[in-house]
Amino acid sequence: MNELRSKVLIIGGGPGGYVAAIRAGELGLDTVLVEDGRFGGACLHVGCIPSKAIIQAAETVHALTHPHALDAIGVTFARPKLDYAKTVAWKDAIVARLATGVGALLKKAHVRSLRGRATIMDGKTAIAHSDTGDQRIACEHLVIATGSEPLQLPALPFGGDILSSTEALALTQVPASLAVVGAGYIGMELGMAFAKLGSKVTVLEALPKILPLYDEELTQPVARRCEDLGIEVMVGAKALGSAKGAITIAGADGKEKTIRAEKALVAVGRRARTAGFGLEKLDLTMAGPFIRVDERCATSMRNVWAIGDVTGEPMLAHRAMAQGEMVAEIMAGAKRAFDKVAIPAVCFTDPEIIAVGLSPEAARAAHGEIATGLFPFRANGRAMTKQADEGFVRVLARADNHVVLGIHAVGAGVSELSAAFALALEMGARLEDVAETVFAHPTESEAFHEAALKALGKPLHI
Ligand SMILES: Cc1cc2nc3c(=O)[nH]c(=O)nc-3n(C[C@H](O)[C@H](O)[C@H](O)COP(=O)(O)OP(=O)(O)OC[C@H]3O[C@@H](n4cnc5c(N)ncnc54)[C@H](O)[C@@H]3O)c2cc1C
Repeated sequence: MNELRSKVLIIGGGPGGYVAAIRAGELGLDTVLVEDGRFGGACLHVGCIPSKAIIQAAETVHALTHPHALDAIGVTFARPKLDYAKTVAWKDAIVARLATGVGALLKKAHVRSLRGRATIMDGKTAIAHSDTGDQRIACEHLVIATGSEPLQLPALPFGGDILSSTEALALTQVPASLAVVGAGYIGMELGMAFAKLGSKVTVLEALPKILPLYDEELTQPVARRCEDLGIEVMVGAKALGSAKGAITIAGADGKEKTIRAEKALVAVGRRARTAGFGLEKLDLTMAGPFIRVDERCATSMRNVWAIGDVTGEPMLAHRAMAQGEMVAEIMAGAKRAFDKVAIPAVCFTDPEIIAVGLSPEAARAAHGEIATGLFPFRANGRAMTKQADEGFVRVLARADNHVVLGIHAVGAGVSELSAAFALALEMGARLEDVAETVFAHPTESEAFHEAALKALGKPLHI
């Protein structure tokens, strides 16, 4: 068997693993990255990027096929036609372009990238099984970045017309009808996109509301938009099983019902990928289904690190990347800790939702009385000109010293505001810091300024 020696061995080339590899390479650490599938991981190939491409295409199709908004600004035209095969090819081309970029960045950083499945032998050795044979890799530092995979429901195992998000994003035709089981962000993003592309969508959620991780005030505009799009949302509904073209559920009233749907997307969460590659040979402390790590992403074994989805919630690409970058710097000798004030969470639903920092409930639980300011987009000029005046920005701060605790927004395109929100929280902004910053006019970001002014009891435009 071929033998390789390296300072750093990273298993898994998703956003966590490839970012760790690039930074380690840049810092002069001799680095090997082993990836079983494609460099870029779930995020690039079956997650963030392809889902946003389909969402963007769906938004365009919907705007053109439901032209009331365009009518209002004086634009009329003949009904457009969707060539979904071309949409899929466009999405795949974006993914391919970004994947080529990841490969080029790894090469530039002098990372040795291997395609194949890695099996861990011990804390300093793994075997990479590739088409060209097996290679034993010895390392000083082992980084586990194996990510996560869609969670199956025993009542609705994947296969045939029961799809995970991976298969839903690979469909080459828009299904006439789609049942979405699970109203978390993945189910709602894809369900709304397919509704806009022309599917009759039914959302089935076991809990009493959609997007259960977000508070009611934030999710109401999304629920209203579902109604506009003709999406039937059934909460308190438990999936019991499926037959060809139908899902059986127990409804909120406990009665069994049959929901007819050509395809079903099961989006009930993701689970850490910890089985099937020798992880059990290591003496690692687990935190439930995840690998336990400390604030440096160190596991319970010296020089064995874990980053990204395999370490738990929030399972988000930007968290994985930030952990990857940090671990590389620690392995190169830097003193770093993952002590972020907040990790932004964005739902690319319609309208979009951003949550950064504490929810109102958590803020009250931690700090008692809080100051709150909410500014609606219906009072924001730029939102009106964009025909996107639904939603708001909400700022929460400590009542005593005005340190900002949480910033949330719901509205069209608000994902781009997440940068300003995260920066404010990470820099420990007080309401006065936001209120005394000059925000460009006319922009939707002015709603952030106004929300802070309102929390201080001195709003200007409302
Ligand atoms: C539909 C969908 C939409 C999403 N949208 C967003 C979004 O908008 N924003 C966001 O932040 N996050 C989003 N996510 C989540 C995001 O994709 C993940 O949080 C992110 O990919 C996690 O990165 P990771 O590096 O930890 O793992 P992964 O991306 O899962 O990568 C792990 C890699 O390890 C490889 N691997 C596993 N075992 C082995 C082995 N033994 N040997 C070699 N290689 C191995 C796998 O092939 C995989 O490529 C979305 C996910 C999905 C499914």
